Amino acid sequence: MQRESIYKRYEPSNNPNKINDSPAYWFVFKLNELMVDANNNTINIPYTNNLEELNISPIRTQYLGTLDGNPCYSAEVNSGTDAPEGMVFKDLRSLYNDLDEDIYLLAGRAVQIVNWDSNHQFCGKCGTPTETKEDEMAKVCPACGFTSHTRLSPAVITAIIKDGKLLMAKHSHTPGNMYGLIAGFVEAGETLEETVLRETLEEVGLRVKNIKYFGSQSWPFPNSLMIAFTADYESGQIRVDGDEITHARWFNTDELPETPSRVSIAGELIDWYKNKYGN
Ligand SMILES: [Zn+2]
Repeated sequence: MQRESIYKRYEPSNNPNKINDSPAYWFVFKLNELMVDANNNTINIPYTNNLEELNISPIRTQYLGTLDGNPCYSAEVNSGTDAPEGMVFKDLRSLYNDLDEDIYLLAGRAVQIVNWDSNHQFCGKCGTPTETKEDEMAKVCPACGFTSHTRLSPAVITAIIKDGKLLMAKHSHTPGNMYGLIAGFVEAGETLEETVLRETLEEVGLRVKNIKYFGSQSWPFPNSLMIAFTADYESGQIRVDGDEITHARWFNTDELPETPSRVSIAGELIDWYKNKYGN
């Protein structure tokens, strides 16, 4: 499952083209919620030359590039801001089925940039107000030169197979009877394969082999980059920590429990398993 750009119509850029005076797409966030226009039957984001027309005064804005040749901006508004008539602020996860795919993906990019911009107003080293670099997505300190790129937290997720069965685990933080795959954040100094080995051993007490790259996905809740793998069981007995993982077992394709949706790469891994091992 490797794909080229996830975007169909979006061209990334950090530098606005000053002569492009087309109306812009605006990704306006208040406390991580996106402002959407629900005036018609379809849900969309504001498309305008000027946010002032909507009575919106952002704290900060960021240029994202173009969609169909139209400029795109992200913006952060303060928590007291009311949405204009007919518009609402909505959680990004709830909008997956409602927004155009490029717009939805771009919103995930936008919210991460908004948060990064907001959280890197001052140099982490000397406290001087930072400046945004023009040639790359970075903040630089004019006093000491310290540079901060967009913050990402890489995490691995693995579909582990034994005799045609898939290992699924119930995480203490997931509601209901949802089972997921083994996942965890990459630690400093690790390769991705080492993270897969460590997390599998820590969470379920198993050793795995034949670790193969499957695909990756930006997961903006809040700033993860998910890197997905498939692997085969090597040795050990399932032994959960009882804390992060409350239960784990091997499932056949025809007895899978409630699983994550296809929105997430976990869902794609489970689909891969069903297609490969199902009848
Ligand atoms: Zn500094």
